[in-house]
Amino acid sequence: MFIDVTNIRKIPGKTFHFDLTEDLRPLALGNDSIEFLNPVRVSLDVRNTGKVIVFSGRFDGDTELVCSRCVERYPCHVGFDFNEEFCHESDVQGLSEEVRDPEEVHIFQGNKVDFGSVLRENLYLNIPMKSVCDEGCKGLCAHCGVNLNNETCQCTNEEIDPRMEVLKKYFNR
Ligand SMILES: [Zn+2]
Ligand SMILES: [Zn+2]
Repeated sequence: MFIDVTNIRKIPGKTFHFDLTEDLRPLALGNDSIEFLNPVRVSLDVRNTGKVIVFSGRFDGDTELVCSRCVERYPCHVGFDFNEEFCHESDVQGLSEEVRDPEEVHIFQGNKVDFGSVLRENLYLNIPMKSVCDEGCKGLCAHCGVNLNNETCQCTNEEIDPRMEVLKKYFNR
């Protein structure tokens, strides 16, 4: 996802709008890989503010995540707003007087901004590491491992240790 900023750099104060639809490469996340089920949508405003070119807008994509309780894959929408600052290497001088945090500004060379890699950084921050398919997900039985959302198992009436049985009688008296 490279954005040509040749024309944008010529006109300070101007905003260009892009509506992008792109296939995104799978994203490695822990031991898993996040794949997008269909092309992701990016609504992007590119604003020339002088030294800094601001990329802001919204990302929307549909993926599948693995539930941390029942370990099943489930569809998940990933949507977030972004705001990223870029500066051409030839404009870097005096940048610290123009922006709040120069460390946050991405420096680029040539005429194109590699927005895809910045977007991927944003994705890592916006995809939950631990998530559940549903707030009410019952997860797996700790004893036999069945998915308790789909079936009930025999372990639900936990067998009581005979020694505990004695105590139980004692407390029930
Ligand atoms: Zn689940
Ligand atoms: Zn069980």
